[in-house]
Amino acid sequence: MQSSGLRLYGIIGHPIAQSLSPLMHNANFESLGIHASMQAYDIEPQSLNEALQGFLSLDFGGLNVTIPHKETIIPLLDEVAEEAGIIGAVNTVRFENGKLAGFNTDARGFMHLLEPLRSSVEGAKFMVLGAGGAARAVVYVLLKHIRTNQIAVVSRTAARATEFTDHFRSINQSKLSTLSMGDPSLPRILQSFDVIINATPVGMFPETHAVPIENPKFHSGQIVIDLIYRPMTTQLLRQASEDGARAVGGVEMFLQQGAEAFRIWTGQTMDIRTVRSAIISKLEQDISASS
Ligand code: NAP
Repeated sequence: MQSSGLRLYGIIGHPIAQSLSPLMHNANFESLGIHASMQAYDIEPQSLNEALQGFLSLDFGGLNVTIPHKETIIPLLDEVAEEAGIIGAVNTVRFENGKLAGFNTDARGFMHLLEPLRSSVEGAKFMVLGAGGAARAVVYVLLKHIRTNQIAVVSRTAARATEFTDHFRSINQSKLSTLSMGDPSLPRILQSFDVIINATPVGMFPETHAVPIENPKFHSGQIVIDLIYRPMTTQLLRQASEDGARAVGGVEMFLQQGAEAFRIWTGQTMDIRTVRSAIISKLEQDISASS
């Protein structure tokens, strides 16, 4: 606790300017009358350990962790919750008695996102674009909680794809395969998948024109999910809607992973209505600013 009694929280990433986590948590702190504040910190990969020690010595309440630190932070922590260890990615850190404890709340966030789609996705063929921290949480949920036909992980780095499938060997690797992001037939292969999930940062604010796959073409039998929440409708989702597919953005996952992080830090329930309205109005302002 700071001398002013203000409890400090942070979100760390590189880059980090796009993050709306400070807006989310500060809106919640204010609504619940909690004397606390979250700020974003741009931490380069080589400074991660030093930064963690700094947050610890400043008596922070907790951290959210985003690109590119979710996996590399694990060996730097004193404890890792069982689920986060199985996923192999941490997006929430709690400081307790001078120790760093890591958790993964992306998995729970993704479960919430899938809930309204559940009947449509049971038994489906899933294509996951990206092999980073968010992709790990997604594949964990699919392997553990959803009846899947097949899960293909598409990575631009072959070594990362192999590491990814090796990691999930203990859960159920038989459903898991890998594809290369550079495969020129990817747009054609994509046609045979029922659910396509973007877990790369491609298309994220401020590079909102970008798409993770060149010239994607979807059809009406598909669901396209983009974990990106800023912008609410990415270029990929716009394309999916134009092609008649069902398009689902990452806002609900973002809200739910944040609510779970807040519960881990404080034991309290987030004022999700207030937070949702603050986030949506910021995302709508982005749209007005860009048009
Ligand atoms: P990460 O751990 O850094 O992983 C990113 C993945 O995307 C890596 O596999 C990376 O490939 C790949 N990638 C990056 N740039 C690429 C490019 N130009 N072309 C192809 N692949 C590329 O990041 P993360 O934490 O998983 O986050 C990924 C995205 O999900 C971000 O946009 C993040 O905002 C979003 N997300 C949203 C929520 C939510 O609550 N809605 C939660 C978590 C994450 P390499 O391995 O080759 O580097």
